[in-house]
Parts: sequence; structure tokens; C-alpha cells
Amino acid sequence: MKRKYITILLAVLLAAVGSIAQQPAQQLEPSVARLQQHISYLASDALDGRRTGTQGANDAAHYIAGEFARLGLRPAIQNAGASRRLSVAMSQYLQPFPYVSGINLGQGNYMSLGDKTVNVGEDWMPVGFSSNAKVERTSIAFVGYGITSSELNYDDYADKRTSGKIALALAGTPDGDNPHGKYARYEGVRWKAIAAKNAGAKALLIVSREAKLKDDRLSNLTYDNSAGDAGLPVAVISQDLIGGKATFDRLEEGAKKRQYIFDENSTASLTTDLVRKEVQAYNVIGVLEGSDRLLKNETIIVGAHYDHLGRGGEGSLAPHSGEIHHGADDNASGTAGVLELARLFTSQRVKPKRTIVFMCFSGEEEGLLGSSYYVNHPVAPLANTVAMINMDMIGRMKARKLIIGGVGTSKEWRDLIDSANKHLFGEQVSPDSSPTKSSKSEHLANINVSQNASIVMNSDPKRFDLTLQEDGYGPSDHSSFYSKQIPVLFFWTGTHNDYHKPSDTFDKINYEGEVRVLSLVARIVRDLDNAEKRLTYSVAKSDSQQGRATGFRVYLGTIPNYSDSNDGLLLDGVRDDSPGARAGLKAGDKIVKIATRDIKNVYDYTAALGEMKAGEEYVVEIMRAGERLTLKIKPEARK
Ligand SMILES: [Zn+2]
Repeated sequence: MKRKYITILLAVLLAAVGSIAQQPAQQLEPSVARLQQHISYLASDALDGRRTGTQGANDAAHYIAGEFARLGLRPAIQNAGASRRLSVAMSQYLQPFPYVSGINLGQGNYMSLGDKTVNVGEDWMPVGFSSNAKVERTSIAFVGYGITSSELNYDDYADKRTSGKIALALAGTPDGDNPHGKYARYEGVRWKAIAAKNAGAKALLIVSREAKLKDDRLSNLTYDNSAGDAGLPVAVISQDLIGGKATFDRLEEGAKKRQYIFDENSTASLTTDLVRKEVQAYNVIGVLEGSDRLLKNETIIVGAHYDHLGRGGEGSLAPHSGEIHHGADDNASGTAGVLELARLFTSQRVKPKRTIVFMCFSGEEEGLLGSSYYVNHPVAPLANTVAMINMDMIGRMKARKLIIGGVGTSKEWRDLIDSANKHLFGEQVSPDSSPTKSSKSEHLANINVSQNASIVMNSDPKRFDLTLQEDGYGPSDHSSFYSKQIPVLFFWTGTHNDYHKPSDTFDKINYEGEVRVLSLVARIVRDLDNAEKRLTYSVAKSDSQQGRATGFRVYLGTIPNYSDSNDGLLLDGVRDDSPGARAGLKAGDKIVKIATRDIKNVYDYTAALGEMKAGEEYVVEIMRAGERLTLKIKPEARK
């Protein structure tokens, strides 16, 4: 299998070399051969799935930096030092950001139940987001599943006997195995830890549902890079420690009836000691300086994420982890797209007027970490950033279907897309055609306007079958830019069966299709660059499913920042005309308290949101420019 794979790879590389040689100089079309070359390397076994913080991801970053250097892009990071593996010149393309790549047990882990010392790694394990702390000989309170939900009128802590004690909870929920049960969203140990902390518990012990502790996902020491630690020690313990499966079943029966009967005299001592492995992850950034004296101060960003899922784990849809997730479409395709566009724009005779910044992000799969870092540490002022074009999964075009998100983020986008489309098909644009609504839509290809109204105006088989979506927020890096009031477009050829699986391989890419997508993107970027006036930012209608997916009853219109934080919830944005905006919340605010709840991170925030009721007024405390402010917010019902 592997040999065959290498043979195919070689054949593709040879084919690529051959056809590049035949291309005339000044060839300004995206090239199938070059896309094959980039994607077959980025999605190869050698890069091991490009998980953020791994050697494979770093090798991908070096490859991208090498291409940027070869194309003559200016490195974006001025004060980069040489690293062990990279020259100063190359590392100047890399924007480092902190990332927790792994968690290890420290030396100090200790647990005893009563007088019996139990072994870390065998009988118990701290969970990856546990705080490091020491809790000495403290009584244990059994708390059923350890769930608090005012929405479901369910509170395992209602009897208030847990304060100052160690909470002992069963893994899972009263739903049993039903993943769509009403308790499903309280199952996560992050939420259970918040409930325990709010109830005044000193620590939380979760009894595993697995016969062997090693089989429990919770014992894997994974870290989500999103919210700092839990604020109290949290550990998973084996069923054996409480007397085996029979005891577990008895406790579960009690938990379902809310009878919390457990050995009243039980105590535990607990020390948790986790060592977080902090590494650097990298965005790769190259600059093509604008040629116009004034307009060069304006920046157009062309970006894509290059990280993927490594060998599975969190985010993988494969049944078993351990296999390389190649990520050819997601998102070697977009990365290759950035490289091809960089080649087109550096090799064209007429230099762009505005500055074009080519950017490949890491940490996307973990929650837009790289792009979120960039917008908080930009290399060119965000106020002068005209637009951000994002490509994520553009390699699987079927039946000429292309999705473009973000068209509501500037009122000029629809016309730009329309005219780029026309240009691509060589249509004559008559300059005096009156730009009324109906004549405009005739120029559009088969456009499915969001809200599912489908307008099929032209059945030219060469045309894109476009689906235009308004929202500037979405599941990829353009979200980070839109939250800073930058117009965005998001190009995507849709999902497929290999999505987030090892089988997303380079041989399944539709290279001709990707060339067409890139031609369209190139044309749009050129038009953006040639426009006399910069784009106007507008607030897009939301087609977001987020609220429905998470099942919250209330809506605030806030866009949380998902990077690591332990002192409040930073807002990346606030939707206009939302309860958050009416309360006076702004991007950059850090929410530290809602009603009586302290908010340390996005989990505390989400838990607090789950407890709010529409139409009631709540006090929100925020930090803004070093000052603590108090605002009042009235959530709306989720539609
Ligand atoms: Zn992905």
C-alpha cells in the first residue's frame, strides 16, 4: 500500500516537473502541475497530517516560507531570530504564537482514598485541563452525575452539602447512551468542573464508565488550547476504587433517583501535577509591496490554513485514531491556492497598487488559533486592511458548485463576484447597461441566494454554480478578520465523505476545478486592487447555525475569542443590533462576571449563557482598557 502510494507520488512529481518546464514564461494562469506538486507534498505521509505544534506542521511552514522566499515576497516579521533549523531570512516569514502541544504528568501526583494510596496512571489520572493543586484529607460528597441545569430544572448540587468537599461524580448523564438526549450538552467534564466549582467543591473526581481506566478518553491527558485550566483539580478514577462495577451500578441507580448515598465517612487526599508542553506554532506571512505611493498603505490579505489533524484525535471523523489524516482538501488545497496566487501576483508585469499579504495559518482545526493571534498581532494595521480572502477546502469541486461566504460583509462583493465571473467566461460587458437589479442578476451565474431561493438565470455549462452566503462568520479563519470589521470572502467547494478522515488524499483532488476557483479568486483580488475606492464594510446577515447547534435558548450576539485565557472571556466581536451591542459590549471587551458567576474562560461563559433566560436583565462586568465596567444585558430568545 505504502509503496504504491510513493510510486503514484513520484509519477505526479515527475509529471509536474515536466509540464512546468514546458510552460512559457509570464504564464499568468494557475497551474494544475504546480497545485499537484504543492498538495502532494503537503498531504504526503512525510508531514504526518500537519497537526499544529508538530514537526509535520513545522515542515509545512518551512516549505511555504521557502516558496514565499523563492517568489520574492518580503518577509513580514522583522525581529525574528535564527532558530536551530532555520536561517534568519527564512524565519522572518514565520509569526510564532504559543501553543500547548501536549501535557505530561509531573512528579508530584498523589491520591489516597481513606488511608490507601492509589497509583496515578493505573487507578486515577488528572484530566488534561485540571488545575495543579493539593487538597489534604477532605471528605467526599457523592453528587450523582454532577450536573447543574436550570433549563432542565436539574441540580445535583441542590442540597448544598458539597461546599468545601471533594465532589465525586459519575461520568455520563441520566440519558445513558443516547447522544441526542436532553442532558447531552452537560456531559463534558469541562461543564461538570464548572458546576463543581460553583458549588464550592475543592476538587472533582469523575468515576469512569469504562472497565479499564486506560480505555477512558478522559485519561488521555489531552488539552483543548481554548480556555486555560478548570480552576480546581479534576481527575478521573477507575471503578475499582469505589468497589467495582456493582458499586458503580448501585450509585447510578441512586443518581437517577437523585439519592446520593455513598460511604459517609470517606475521605481523600489529592495532589495534581501536570506539566504543559508549550511550543511555538507558526503563521507564515509574505508581503507583496504595493506599487502605488498612496494605495500601498492599504492591504489585501489572501489566506488559508495549512494545519490539519495529524493522526486524528479531537476533530477526527475516523473510527480509530492513529492513522495519518492527510488533509489534502482540508487544507493543502487552500494552502496551494495561496502559493499559486502568490506566484501569479509576483510574476505579473503590472505590479499591484495595493499591498497584498499572503498568509498561511496554523491552529485552525483547534479553533482558529493562528488567525485569531494574527488579528491581535497584525503585521499591517487592521484599519488599513481592505479585505481578507480565505480559501478552505477548494479541491473537491463537483458539478461546478462553489460556495462563497461573506458576501454580506461589503455591499460591493456581489458586483465584484458577478463581474469576475463574467470576465472568466469572456463575456462582453456592455458599459452602458443600466445597473438595475434585474439586469444585474442576469449576469450572475446560477446563483443560489441564501435562504434557498434559487435563481437559475443562465445554463451555460462552463459557469460556476454559485451558492452565495451572507454571513462573515463561519467555520474558518475569515471569522477572525470579520470580527475586526474587515470585509471577508470565504471560498469553499463543499464537504465530502473524506472530510476529516485519513482518506482525504491528494489523488482525490479536482485540480482543474481548483484552477478555475483560483482564476476567479485572482480576478476578484485584481479588481479589488484596481478599484479606486476601497471596499465598504457592512454588517452581514447571520446565517449562523451556531445557536441552534449548541441548543441555547438565549442569544447575546457575542463572538468569543477561543484562544487560551484564564482571566475572563475576550470578545472578538459583537453583532450589530444584538442584545450584546445594545448593552454596550464591544470587540476587545473581556467579560469577567455575569450575574453572580465569575467568568474565567469560554466554558464559564457558555455555562452562564445556559442559565440565562430571555427577557430578563442581567448584570455583566467587563474589563475595558484596564477599567472594570458594569453593563446591563437583556438576552433574546433564540429563534
Ligand atoms: Zn478541517
